Amino acid sequence: MDQLFAHSSIKAVAVTDHNTVQGYDKVQELAKPFKDILIIPGVEITTPEGDLLVLGVAELPPRPWNVMDVIDFARRNGGAVIVAHPYREYGLGSLARNYDVDAVEVLNWSIPSHLNRLAENLAREMRCPGVAGTDAHNVDELWTVCTEIQASLDVDEILRTMKKGLVKACSCSRSIHF
Ligand SMILES: [Zn+2]
Repeated sequence: MDQLFAHSSIKAVAVTDHNTVQGYDKVQELAKPFKDILIIPGVEITTPEGDLLVLGVAELPPRPWNVMDVIDFARRNGGAVIVAHPYREYGLGSLARNYDVDAVEVLNWSIPSHLNRLAENLAREMRCPGVAGTDAHNVDELWTVCTEIQASLDVDEILRTMKKGLVKACSCSRSIHF
């Protein structure tokens, strides 16, 4: 999961399970009573070159999954593509430079800070917005990092704002404890 941060409290959460979108409906259902929380559909796609996060699309791209086709799929469906943890295992690394992506994950909670710094440099070189991702596989890994973004609680507006680069990857002082 990734978190997007709006106006000083967490209001939007992107669900990005590995290679499946099945969790989205469930999370959406659970979040329904909380009108001030937006659940952003998404998925983390495994490609032979590295992992890609697709946000704003609640279906899987057609296979085979390669970077170019996943990007095309996201574009056609109004989504956004983020290079996940570029310098960790299963990351695209410097290959990301070959692709026109919407953002680079420059702050991944689960990896050492020097790898995040490399990701930051990559985003700068590519003139790409940098976003944060918790990479949470457990509940207690949520709310560790987040992306500040000045947008209303609307998936399209959030993705548009992110693509413009009006985002900031931040560490969260955890406001929720489990
Ligand atoms: Zn990954």
